[in-house]
Amino acid sequence: PDLGRDVSADMVVDEDATDDLLGGLQIGSTADIEVPDRLVDQVIGQDHARDIILKAAKQRRHVMMIGSPGTGKSMLAKAMSQLLPREELQDVLVYHNPDDGNEPKIRTVPAGKGEQIVEAHKEEARKRNQMRSFLMWIIIAIVIGYALIVEGAVLLGILAAGVIYLAFRYSSRGSDAMIPNLLVNNADHQTAPFEDATGAHAGALLGDVRHDPFQSGGMETPSHDRVEAGAIHKSNKGVLFVDEINTLDIRSQQKLMTAIQEGEFSITGQSERSSGAMVQTEPVPTDFVMVAAGNMDAMENMHPALRSRIKGYGYEVYMDDTIEDTPEMRRKYARFIAQEVEKDGRLPHFDNEAVEEVILEAQRRAQRKGHLTLELRNLGGLVRVAGDIARAEDAEYTTRDHVLRAKRRSRSIEQQLADQYIERRKDYDMTVAEGDVVGRVNGLAVMGGDSGMVMPVMAEVAPSQGPGEVIATGKLQDIAQEAVMNVSAILKKFSDEDISKQDIHIQYVQSYEGVQGDSASVTMATAVISALENIPVSQSVAMTGSLSVRGDVLPVGGVTHKIEAAAKAGMDTVIIPAANMQDVMIEDEFKDQIEIIPVSHISEVLDVALAGEPEKDSLVDRLKNITGQALESGSGS
Ligand code: ADP
Repeated sequence: PDLGRDVSADMVVDEDATDDLLGGLQIGSTADIEVPDRLVDQVIGQDHARDIILKAAKQRRHVMMIGSPGTGKSMLAKAMSQLLPREELQDVLVYHNPDDGNEPKIRTVPAGKGEQIVEAHKEEARKRNQMRSFLMWIIIAIVIGYALIVEGAVLLGILAAGVIYLAFRYSSRGSDAMIPNLLVNNADHQTAPFEDATGAHAGALLGDVRHDPFQSGGMETPSHDRVEAGAIHKSNKGVLFVDEINTLDIRSQQKLMTAIQEGEFSITGQSERSSGAMVQTEPVPTDFVMVAAGNMDAMENMHPALRSRIKGYGYEVYMDDTIEDTPEMRRKYARFIAQEVEKDGRLPHFDNEAVEEVILEAQRRAQRKGHLTLELRNLGGLVRVAGDIARAEDAEYTTRDHVLRAKRRSRSIEQQLADQYIERRKDYDMTVAEGDVVGRVNGLAVMGGDSGMVMPVMAEVAPSQGPGEVIATGKLQDIAQEAVMNVSAILKKFSDEDISKQDIHIQYVQSYEGVQGDSASVTMATAVISALENIPVSQSVAMTGSLSVRGDVLPVGGVTHKIEAAAKAGMDTVIIPAANMQDVMIEDEFKDQIEIIPVSHISEVLDVALAGEPEKDSLVDRLKNITGQALESGSGS
């Protein structure tokens, strides 16, 4: 199959330098990169989805695309419309029905013919009207002439002339009713239509008949002139794209399915009490290919019959979030920048260093070693902001400096919110980045997937009246319980404190909406151990990691953002799971600010985080011994 040509193959590539960020591309700036004409060739990654689109276009099948926003779903749907044959396009006309004014007639003609037909009708009506008004003026002239001859009848003559004039005007309206309404016009379309019906209300999706305020008395607009096409009609022979398909109300989804099944759908007024609701046209063709899109949720909540319709007669495809970082891919990302610059039309092209910085950002945003992010709408946003900054400065090229400034400016809402929290917390002096405190640990969390922040955890231990309890607030409860359970197995073996007779209180010093706390168990365990053993924790240390029953530190998400947050908050050491070391892609400016310590066991965490030798040393030693044994006996059983 035609998978589109590899455009980077046309460009000069230095085979010895493919390891660099540009993948060996020999260019002066993105201006040297040729952007392919066809949209389908501009799509980066998503080979699977692209393959399906090419196939589905050939076979005229429906497609369901599931995936993250901004990964190219609507772009691919539009690309599909460019692949459909233009020859089949049709114009649709609505005619007055002399037998029943409320059931306008529908005629379908080849694209371009519609305008001609309407023109011909108009021309005819014009001629007829000319004839009539010629006739009218002659009659008026005769009447007035006669009135002048017959003395005393002048007033009567003028009156009669007026009546004749109005009568002609009124009756000429009837000939307008014969002009058809061009419902769907494909005359100027170079490709098959692409209609985006995302979030469309019923009228916009299914067509509508406008209300007529003058329903009688000869002032009314003929019903066929009030008929309006919906997206399902405009996309005839083309592509109907519906994103967030589940947000379409069930009735509309049902009707959409009827249109798919029948290949035609009558237009009627959508507001029930208007005069439009009395009108129903003959069926209007709706022979479109549907591309439905959404996230996982969308698929579960969409009308099951519609879903199975697509499944049975089409394809379902899952969009990739990231793609493997290869020299060829990096060259394509350079082309992506060229595409975005050309699409915008006003941005200065990017010089090589600027391109490199964007590709670096694509690596960082992938949050996965050896991968590039495919959330390209957002990356395109960065390109535009950087280009705008360059343009505002009348720069010839967009440079690395512009990209860096854009990155600061184009932060997500969550990042801005996180920054505000940090600011506010500074006011209240909530972040402690120095000194040693018992039971207090600087944990790290992620907000909105791309903003890290420091989230201090406090633990306090008090003798219990009954059996010991873990008391935590809100969402913390589950994580806290699990974390404590995991350490308690270890603690039991070495601690003099019997935690089953203690109440352990755990709280975040300050918690926020939307914070994902899944990875806080190492933090909590450290806080609890510190409180139990009364050994202070160094506040210049931040940490993240998940804890197993054995005391192993397991990998977590978002380490890059967490490390950067710790550095920003003034910590000088950050503990992360060793298994996450490969995910670390912090910006250069942070590298000198913070020391990253990879760990694989809780004893290493305590070794770094606890202050106050010699208690700490003895604790860590005991822990190492005991968990060593625990491990051995564990693996033996
Ligand atoms: P979605 O429909 O998945 O939310 P879009 O197709 O609307 O995303 O993508 C928005 C824009 O982001 C596109 O117009 C294009 O500029 C860019 N883009 C997104 N995905 C890709 C991709 N895979 N290849 C090239 N550009 C992309």
